[in-house]
Amino acid sequence: MKFYLLFGPPGAGKGTQAKLLVDKFNLKHISTGELLRNEIAKGSELGKIVQKIIDKGELIDDKTMISIIESEIDSNPHVSGFLFDGFPRTIAQAEALDTMLSARKFSVESVLSIMIPDVMIYERIRHRAEIENRKDDAEPEVIKNRITTYHSKTEPLIAYYKECGKYHEVDGTGTIEEVFGSISKLVG
Ligand code: ADP
Repeated sequence: MKFYLLFGPPGAGKGTQAKLLVDKFNLKHISTGELLRNEIAKGSELGKIVQKIIDKGELIDDKTMISIIESEIDSNPHVSGFLFDGFPRTIAQAEALDTMLSARKFSVESVLSIMIPDVMIYERIRHRAEIENRKDDAEPEVIKNRITTYHSKTEPLIAYYKECGKYHEVDGTGTIEEVFGSISKLVG
């Protein structure tokens, strides 16, 4: 079972590329953002807690995220591989993922990183706000906080995965097709 991680700042196009990648390479797509938004839509207790955090542009606690991922892995025993989109987002999540996978005799195959500059993050999210109805995309202050959080908590993962030789970066500023072409070359 292969585990690919789609990495990049908010608005880099992870969701768009993930949909194309899972079709082409027959992987199970796990978007933690989508899983959390489903919890909110269900109106569960977890959903209520999660909503407040997402609306501020902050991260859900590591323990909750790790247990969500663990249950997704264990409830899909027959897939040929996973594409995680939005996880891990902190060093603690990355370490927990390594532990979780090695206990199951698996490991991270590759980190596919889509990079765009901060100015483009704002443009992309503003554009997405017109198409999708995400509250966390509508407020400039919330977007700013997500970008700050990305730089402080998530960006350190680049060094973490470079260290073990699993980090691969593509330029995310091109068209959807161009970015897909670059990422596809990294999977297989
Ligand atoms: P984006 O890539 O635009 O930030 P996502 O859909 O991946 O959007 O995530 C939306 C929100 O869900 C994040 O801002 C964060 O609050 C929460 N979230 C998603 N994944 C994680 C995670 N692995 N750890 C903590 N919080 C998360």
